[in-house]
Amino acid sequence: MPDAPALPLAQRLYAVQQQLGNAAMAAGRAPDAVQLLAVSKTRSADDIAALAALGVRDFGENYLQEALAKQAQLADLPLTWHFIGPIQSNKTRDIARRFHWVHSVDRLRIAERLSEQRGAEQPPLNICLQVNVDREASKSGVTPEQLPALAQQVAALPHLRLRGLMALPSADSNDRNRAAFATLARLQQQLGATLPGLDTLSMGMSDDFDTAIAEGATFVRIGTALFGPRPARP
Ligand SMILES: *Cc1c(COP(=O)(O)O)cnc(C)c1O
Repeated sequence: MPDAPALPLAQRLYAVQQQLGNAAMAAGRAPDAVQLLAVSKTRSADDIAALAALGVRDFGENYLQEALAKQAQLADLPLTWHFIGPIQSNKTRDIARRFHWVHSVDRLRIAERLSEQRGAEQPPLNICLQVNVDREASKSGVTPEQLPALAQQVAALPHLRLRGLMALPSADSNDRNRAAFATLARLQQQLGATLPGLDTLSMGMSDDFDTAIAEGATFVRIGTALFGPRPARP
């Protein structure tokens, strides 16, 4: 691994970790209550390996074929892989088997396929339900009205473990995103009355992760702030 590009990566990582820790403390939360999920879509396997060497464990990918290629290159590293992109039903088998977490489940049919296709020898696949909290902007995600029923159904599937909720609000205004994060946290709390054990709120990206941490994020999904501006997809 060349030394030159590793240095700015390390500096960006330390800056993000510091900002994350400060946001947690400002919210009266323990710094380790918030986990960094490095969003590595469009980044090379070398960049992922460089962050892994600096102690980052969790990586998020949006595009299956790209992710599988990098996973194969990095098979020796003890990484935790998160699928965070839109899911096509004909691609569920590899998602079910090659990832530890899926954050973008928003309908029962996909959840059923993931459960059926998860290897019998594998531990349950960790699931977050993607919620369309600001329905004007985003197209994917279950509506808040449909969420309770979906959550009950997903929680009952044998090879999945429902962990919590995910949101991807449109980043046009910090105030609107704060409201969306607060809504997601409230929905999670309401689900907790019938579904104990939900412990994950996946929300916040490079531009708004401190706001998300203030509202209770447990995973912040950060790409640009770690790796720099994203190159076009190859
Ligand atoms: C790309 C992406 C991110 C990271 O976005 P940045 O603004 O680069 O931090 C987070 N979550 C999802 C679902 C993404 O697709």
